[in-house]
Amino acid sequence: MTQDSLQRFAREKLARLDADRLRRELLTTDRTGPATHRRSGSDLISFACNDYLGLSRHPDVVAASVKATQRLGVGAGASRLVTGNHSLYERLERQLAEIKGTEAAVVFGSGYLANLGTIPALVGKRDLVVIDELCHACLYSGVRLAGSDLQIFRHNNVDHAAELLQQNRESHRFCLLVTEGVFSMDGDRAPVGSLLELASEHDAWLMTDDAHGLGVVGDGRGSNATPPGELPVPLQMGTLSKAVGAYGGYVCASREVVALLHNRARSFVYTTGLPPGTVAAASAALDIIVSDVQLTRRPLELARRFTETLGLPEAESPIVPIMLETADRVLAASKRLADAGFLVVPIRPPTVPEGTARLRCTFSAAHRDDDVARLATAMRAILESV
Ligand SMILES: *Cc1c(COP(=O)(O)O)cnc(C)c1O
Repeated sequence: MTQDSLQRFAREKLARLDADRLRRELLTTDRTGPATHRRSGSDLISFACNDYLGLSRHPDVVAASVKATQRLGVGAGASRLVTGNHSLYERLERQLAEIKGTEAAVVFGSGYLANLGTIPALVGKRDLVVIDELCHACLYSGVRLAGSDLQIFRHNNVDHAAELLQQNRESHRFCLLVTEGVFSMDGDRAPVGSLLELASEHDAWLMTDDAHGLGVVGDGRGSNATPPGELPVPLQMGTLSKAVGAYGGYVCASREVVALLHNRARSFVYTTGLPPGTVAAASAALDIIVSDVQLTRRPLELARRFTETLGLPEAESPIVPIMLETADRVLAASKRLADAGFLVVPIRPPTVPEGTARLRCTFSAAHRDDDVARLATAMRAILESV
């Protein structure tokens, strides 16, 4: 049979993953409330979700989505450059640009697609990309597609980034300097101000991925909200699928850069626009984010309470990693937490570097104080027993 080699290939690859305890499987998980999930017949309090503000279920957000769906249908029907650019996009892009302090914004199908399309639209083979080692897989995918010279600096190490720029900048045409605002698996924040300065010294373009910053740091405006009068980070990417609670990705930039992306980002040009209901939901959620500062502060407050209780370094974002090093240990710890009624997912390589497997706890405005206190107690027992 012609498919024998395909079957064998899949079987052997899976056996390798099994042997390394790195095989992943889909588990049916229903979100039964803003911070509760039902999985394998158990109701769990979730510290695993990126819906930091519970907005995916907020009545105003849901109502906006339903209304838009009834008015404009469930799908956009075509790419945005054809007929898929329905009227709800304009408001959403204006809101994003306003929040990030840029002239314009462009919404993509997802954050992954935004990175995959934006990087190759701006840099190519003659260019240099200098990137933090812990940046998200989709930023690396974008760089690989661009075919640029890739130089990786040690995590949050501005001196190392400077060294790489000194060594490599001159022999390239353009240069992109890339970081995350809030690091997705570590929860720490980048020194955006220092990187912006460094970029300007070397005529490099700073690009920040703020997937985990918007809505939960900087009073909701994210990692690199710029004080009025100061120049913003020129390329600010992010997602509408985490604290915003909906789906989609965005890049905030100047009017001309946005117009260029409309023309050259392949993941923008050759894909269908987002469903109207999704765009309306994101817009309604951003209205809440800019008007309810208390809500945007709560996830970080809860994360700090947790790190303080356990004597861990103070949380810089609603993401708190509990480092357990090996895949075996994180799997066992995650199982123990599930038995105690908590959903905390084990994160293993290749999502994180070898030897840094961890539990990743995310805190939400929807958690009750008592949920956090009980998680801390359960986590302490685990830390004392490893
Ligand atoms: C989640 C995430 C993305 C991808 O965003 P999606 O909208 O989920 O595709 C990109 N970058 C970072 C840092 C992320 O955490």
